[in-house]
Amino acid sequence: MAFESLSDRLQNAIGKLRKKGKVTEADVREMMREVRLALLEADVNFTVVKDFVKKVRERAVGAEVLDSLTPAQQIVKIVNDELTKTMGEEAVPLNKSPHIPTIIMMVGLQGAGKTTTAGKLANYLIKNQKARPLMIAADVYRPAAVDQLKTIGQQLDVPVFDMGTDHDPVEIVKQGMIQADLQKNDYVIIDTAGRLQIDEKLMTELENIQNEVHPTEILLTVDSMTGQAATEVAKGFDEQLNITGVVLTKLDGDTRGGAALSIREVTGKPIKFTGQGEKLDQLDVFYPDRMANRILGMGDMLSLIEKAQTDYDEQQAQEMADKIKENSFDFNDFLDQMDQIQKMGPVDELMKMIPGLANNPATKNLNVSSKDLDHIKAIVYSMTPQEREEPNLLNPSRKRRLAAGAGRPIAEVNRIIKQFETSKKMMQQMSKGNMNGMENLFGN
Ligand code: GDP
Repeated sequence: MAFESLSDRLQNAIGKLRKKGKVTEADVREMMREVRLALLEADVNFTVVKDFVKKVRERAVGAEVLDSLTPAQQIVKIVNDELTKTMGEEAVPLNKSPHIPTIIMMVGLQGAGKTTTAGKLANYLIKNQKARPLMIAADVYRPAAVDQLKTIGQQLDVPVFDMGTDHDPVEIVKQGMIQADLQKNDYVIIDTAGRLQIDEKLMTELENIQNEVHPTEILLTVDSMTGQAATEVAKGFDEQLNITGVVLTKLDGDTRGGAALSIREVTGKPIKFTGQGEKLDQLDVFYPDRMANRILGMGDMLSLIEKAQTDYDEQQAQEMADKIKENSFDFNDFLDQMDQIQKMGPVDELMKMIPGLANNPATKNLNVSSKDLDHIKAIVYSMTPQEREEPNLLNPSRKRRLAAGAGRPIAEVNRIIKQFETSKKMMQQMSKGNMNGMENLFGN
């Protein structure tokens, strides 16, 4: 998971304070030493670490923290605030041109995920703004890049303008823009060439394209797994091209988080999106505050809700809520719910977004796979329609039959029915606004 090792280290360092009744200045100093090491090990830029530690220390040794009844909590809040500030405070949306088309120029080193991200952005714009983008294949150096973009275009049903690999990229872009004008595309996404490292020829080519079309956005894709190197790359590109934002790719594999924590401070340019996997819908808006929450194991409820909103069928969700209120939620609804959840992605990743569960030892090794959900579904499918509506009808002999029908142990059948009843009760209480009992879930 993204930032796992940094997360563990920071929480450990702060966790030690929680065990103390009273926190002294020496305790804070000791904690900050560990925080500093954790950040350096996460490959955060040295100057950023120094600055961060200084700010947290100054605030943490203040009288109102040390004298407070809950110093550890106050310190968590300070660390959270400062992490958020380091990453840029607010999410920065994509710039939009007052005239169509808005031109987004993708730049970055080879392999950083530029072409994939071009496709992800097109998909994002279609989903969120009902946009009609055109993509231009101007990476004529990497042999497969043009075909790769065309394949992505086909998958998304987005037109791709290309002239093969024998033309000058500036000419390709020029012609592509004419096509966009004719088709009245509202967005143009230009995929440019990358190199293994920054070189002059590449930069000149990118500058030529920039001067030709004056893009609304110059988005740099950097591979987060390269840590400090990603920060250096961002600095290099920004100095030459004055980029407007960064897309941090491959965050799904980055356990350290150094790039995310350094880029904003070092370049002054916002991270606008993160790539969280190879699929074209795995692009997320970057919210510094939510990222800080996740690093500190406080979950990311807002992203979870947003995810649910995009992936969830709203009408179905409303019907479900009504059923819960009326206490008529049955195993049929339960099956629908499971389908909806499975659409949202891996369950263990979703669980980690829930406050208190994020780094709770109980869920740490939780490995709820799609297979587990399939087992549960198999059991529910073995019930008769009437049993699904009225689980009370399930007597021991029927339960045995269910287990045999689904090929699962009887204990699992019993457990699922019990869990269903418990969650039904809990949901009903929550729907009445009674949150009692929930604090057990969120407690640390
Ligand atoms: P380009 O050379 O910069 O155009 O890079 P590509 O778009 O071809 O991406 C290089 C590799 O990284 C491909 O295998 C992509 O599938 C993969 N990739 C891109 N973005 C992500 C991401 O966010 N997560 C993961 N896990 N892989 C990614």
